[in-house]
Amino acid sequence: MLTETEAAELCRQLPQLGQFLASEEASELLREWPRELVVEAGRAALGRIRERARMGALTQDSFRAEVNGLASGIADELRAMTRPSLRRVINATGVILQTNLGRAPLSEAAIRRIEEIARGYCNLEFDLETGGRGRRDSLVEELILRVLELRSGPEAVRDRAATVVNNCAAATFLALNSLAEGGEVLVSRGELVEIGGGFRIPEILRKSGAILREVGTTNRTRISDYAAAIGPQTRLILRVHRSNFKIEGFAEQPSLQELIGLGAETGIPVFEDQGTGCIVQLEDFGMRDEVNWVRDAACRPALISASGDKLMGGPQCGILVGEGKLVEAIRANPLARAFRADKLTYAALEATLLAYAMGEEETIPAIAMMRRVAEGLRVRCDVIAERLRAAGFEAEVIATRSVVGGGTTPGASLPSFGVALRLDGMSEDALEAKLRGLDPPVIARIAQERVVLDLRTVADEDDATLCEMLLKLRN
Ligand SMILES: *Cc1c(COP(=O)(O)O)cnc(C)c1O
Repeated sequence: MLTETEAAELCRQLPQLGQFLASEEASELLREWPRELVVEAGRAALGRIRERARMGALTQDSFRAEVNGLASGIADELRAMTRPSLRRVINATGVILQTNLGRAPLSEAAIRRIEEIARGYCNLEFDLETGGRGRRDSLVEELILRVLELRSGPEAVRDRAATVVNNCAAATFLALNSLAEGGEVLVSRGELVEIGGGFRIPEILRKSGAILREVGTTNRTRISDYAAAIGPQTRLILRVHRSNFKIEGFAEQPSLQELIGLGAETGIPVFEDQGTGCIVQLEDFGMRDEVNWVRDAACRPALISASGDKLMGGPQCGILVGEGKLVEAIRANPLARAFRADKLTYAALEATLLAYAMGEEETIPAIAMMRRVAEGLRVRCDVIAERLRAAGFEAEVIATRSVVGGGTTPGASLPSFGVALRLDGMSEDALEAKLRGLDPPVIARIAQERVVLDLRTVADEDDATLCEMLLKLRN
């Protein structure tokens, strides 16, 4: 430990930035990086050494080593300064639609379409037949309706229209604002939910200018409760999919059909905020099949909203399907302009929907991940665990449960396998943080005092990268 005077003396020995910039090493950096950035990075690197010297964290020798390594310290700093803040990560959480990790990875076809459209111009709002102005929101309308028709017959989409906005939250808000501003919207008390990220149904309703009319109780709401609440001010019956929780036990709610029946009797449109956008049958994946956009749309609520990047496995967007006149009213709302989706979204959405139309949904990563059989995952875990054990890790293959996530299937999970890791002397929190510091960062979860890597959400081709990065941690 140095005395304060010795530490101050070290600080005096630090080279000046100007001196460094005139050196041969600096000229190498300056060939690659703009001068302003090198200056900034140099200041930061010198500042860090000064700080550590002042705190007494350096000896004469380690101070020398730091100063001699200044150029490489600055190069590290430059790389950190220019590294994108949005980075690819390896998702080893086993949560397929992890909202914090960007939800659905896109299919190769969707990626190719984005690339093609991003590179040049496109007919986003240009009618190639007439040469006049076109409408972006009619670009994928036909395909959305075709997918619904292919899955549940022509009756499902008779007299239906569709439009696309930025996300399902925007779709729901826009629908409420367009159809119920100044009027009452009936919602069951069991559905006054927070979807996540601060999206709370009562607040969204208030912001939309509609008046919330609560119906029933938290656990039980009957069709008669809705019927009794309908009055001259009622504009809409809203049904919200309980995306991230379940009510079990003494609970009851009317089916969508019953609500639509009431809507038909009373002339009040039923709007379902469906959320998941699920097109496949979850039963086929061994999950309870409670949520399905296609099935709900086939019941023909007046309007239904869904997310593009949940179980549909496409880009972030919100899809509204409903009676022509309602969709027209939504399109005519000036706010629709504020919520419009961009051309890359349309490109990716079209490719994603086309996969469903062609019966090729296996090409959509979220669907493929749900389909992965646990046994195959175990084999991959075995390979990784063995390599890690050989390098001194404690690594055990354990049975886990993967969840779909993204507020889609509360309570449902898929059998999976993971590698449970420990590295001598390191706490599980420290190891988890180390994994986040890798390049690309690896996001894992902690269970039973170990770091668990669930391979369901890791692409096969990332196994080798994952393994090699982990082995480097050991050295
Ligand atoms: C997820 C979800 C939303 C919000 O969708 P985003 O696309 O994330 O905006 C709205 N409603 C329901 C029922 C949902 O599940």
